[in-house]
Amino acid sequence: MKKDIHPKYATATISCACGNSIEVGSTKSDIKIDICSKCHPFFTGKQKLVDTAGRIERFRKKYEKYQK
Ligand SMILES: [Zn+2]
Repeated sequence: MKKDIHPKYATATISCACGNSIEVGSTKSDIKIDICSKCHPFFTGKQKLVDTAGRIERFRKKYEKYQK
């Protein structure tokens, strides 16, 4: 390997919206994610509402109008 042509490879901490953090090797130092293997419904086996942008709430309001 040549010297000084590779980006710095260090331990990065991935922080999830659920509070879980995972340490991985990456060139980035900090990564933020909305969902991880700990809180994903597929892994937890539970139905969990993932609505970080308020999209579901907006959809419900829109749907209410059509019901009236
Ligand atoms: Zn998570």
